[in-house]
Amino acid sequence: MPDPSIRKIVIVGGGTAGWMAAAPLAQRFAGATNATGTVRCEVVLVESPDIGTVGVGEATLPTIRAYNQSLGLDGADFVQRTQGSFKLGIEFRDWGRVGHRFFHGFGDFGPAIQGLSPWQHWLRLQREVDKLPSYEDWSTATAMAKGNRFTPPEPGAPSAANAYSFAYHFDAGLYAAYLREYAMARGAQRVQGTIVDVELRPEDGFVAAVKLQDGRRVEGDLFIDCSGFRALLIGGAMQSPYEDWSSLLPCDRPRPCPASASRR
Ligand SMILES: Cc1cc2nc3c(=O)[nH]c(=O)nc-3n(C[C@H](O)[C@H](O)[C@H](O)COP(=O)(O)OP(=O)(O)OC[C@H]3O[C@@H](n4cnc5c(N)ncnc54)[C@H](O)[C@@H]3O)c2cc1C
Repeated sequence: MPDPSIRKIVIVGGGTAGWMAAAPLAQRFAGATNATGTVRCEVVLVESPDIGTVGVGEATLPTIRAYNQSLGLDGADFVQRTQGSFKLGIEFRDWGRVGHRFFHGFGDFGPAIQGLSPWQHWLRLQREVDKLPSYEDWSTATAMAKGNRFTPPEPGAPSAANAYSFAYHFDAGLYAAYLREYAMARGAQRVQGTIVDVELRPEDGFVAAVKLQDGRRVEGDLFIDCSGFRALLIGGAMQSPYEDWSSLLPCDRPRPCPASASRR
């Protein structure tokens, strides 16, 4: 249970971040009641019907599977509902220098052989064998990706058939909708309205409530800011400064494009 003084959690924003926050909170707390039947913690999400979400195609890392598993989501249902596909790694082109490429296959290269990692064996073989295949060719994930094939890792003793990992590509808008259904089925409440003001507690300056355009006021004990680039609570009400990292980044824009994939 959360801190007993937290009786109501308010999430601001209903994009992927908002519903990803709401789903586990609802799973753990929203329906829980104490001995007298009183709900111990409400989970409320406020989202604007007038301000859209980013909701593009999302590429993820294998850690997304741990999140989905913690909610008990069914993998096949999830892929179908989010128009997802499987992702075995990331290809970096012209990364270190123009013309250079490498494929980062997710997961490991297999169990240790005679107590040494496959990497160490490959290094030794490189000295002894002419034209040794590159290290990435020993990765099951990379080999599958190159062959445009996928199968999930097999359960059982560690082997090359289960050392790799995978993630997903999916439609972020559908993922948010999927988690919304999940969270609301477990007691999360959805409030649709545009926040026009944030009320702070005079005693400590923390958020007390958000005020909506239609006059409603949503108060809470814990607020989670998932309002995207607007950063309504963090940047706006709390005035936490934005840290600009653009000078450190080699990229300064995404280029989305729709694509369709044929099924094999
Ligand atoms: C082209 C592109 C490609 C991307 N690719 C990837 C990727 O491959 N992998 C990855 O992990 N990420 C990717 N991202 C980033 C990721 O998609 C976004 O960071 C994420 O979708 C943002 O979700 P969010 O919930 O934080 O914000 P948003 O989707 O912006 O949602 C904000 C929410 O806040 C609400 N809100 C805002 N203001 C108010 C208000 N005044 N009152 C009430 N509600 C309000 C809105 O209604 C909305 O519900 C990509 C982004 C872009 C643009």
